[in-house]
Amino acid sequence: MFIALVYAAAQAYAFTVVVHPLDITRGDPFVVVVSNTTEPPSVEFGGAGLPLSSCGEACYIALGLAPLDTKPGGSPLKVSDGLLNVSLAIQVHEGEFASQSLTLPKDKVTLSPEDEARADDEALRMRGLWAIVNPRLWEGDFIMPLGGSISTGFGTVRLMNETKRSIHSGLDIRGGYGTPILAANTGKVVMDEDTFFGGNTVILDHGMGLYTVYLHMQESRVIVGEVVAKGETVGFVGSTGRSTGPHLHYSVKLAATSINPHALTALPLGRAQAMGLGGASVLEDKIPSSTPPLSTTPPLTKQQQVQRQ
Ligand SMILES: [Zn+2]
Repeated sequence: MFIALVYAAAQAYAFTVVVHPLDITRGDPFVVVVSNTTEPPSVEFGGAGLPLSSCGEACYIALGLAPLDTKPGGSPLKVSDGLLNVSLAIQVHEGEFASQSLTLPKDKVTLSPEDEARADDEALRMRGLWAIVNPRLWEGDFIMPLGGSISTGFGTVRLMNETKRSIHSGLDIRGGYGTPILAANTGKVVMDEDTFFGGNTVILDHGMGLYTVYLHMQESRVIVGEVVAKGETVGFVGSTGRSTGPHLHYSVKLAATSINPHALTALPLGRAQAMGLGGASVLEDKIPSSTPPLSTTPPLTKQQQVQRQ
């Protein structure tokens, strides 16, 4: 459900902030829509500014997230247009994550110096990608790239060969060899190569610092630089790289942080984007009777704002 908050200031001016959901689990993303602002707002969560994209006239959309290591409790989301400030609490729940023991060939857990150098180089290049925040390409809701059941969920704590501990950063989705894997949304191909851990790997840049990652593919069907549409085939299910059977490892990075792909797919981004076109009336029947935690600071005059800086 959407939550709509209208900040009615003493002046005949207000902007609307909509956050969904206000209640999340560690690793989940959320969407913020700010409308009727005179200036592009700043949206801040966890001390960091969130990238904004236009969703119509005087409408801005942002995606935030609570990383897996977030301390459970209320986390402040601050929105300001330089004149008015609003602070809401997003409730972050601890959540439950499974644990799993795995036995893998020794050379895939304890790496040779050459393999380690290769894996390090690949990880470094991927981190370089996550840091690039391009304009939004995604449109509307994200879809799941493959319809199979989940063999390993997001955030699962894994113990490999009883020694090496890791956290599963994505979803392992079961699928037969050769099953088409679909682009979760419109995005630009920024990696298409055979990596040490991931095997045949495709990475899509959806803009706003949001990337989707597809691993272990039998083969890819895209090339670096091309823009693929949502639902287009990016490759086929395989078992390349560090994999014990045919499946898709699907992961999502937002602000260089792994987020729960299921929670991204569940975000009503199509409706959020439409707010800018339909205005607040789209939401009128969705405003809940109980208002969520909300605190506001007194409206600042422009002069006060300057003094505080
Ligand atoms: Zn996996």
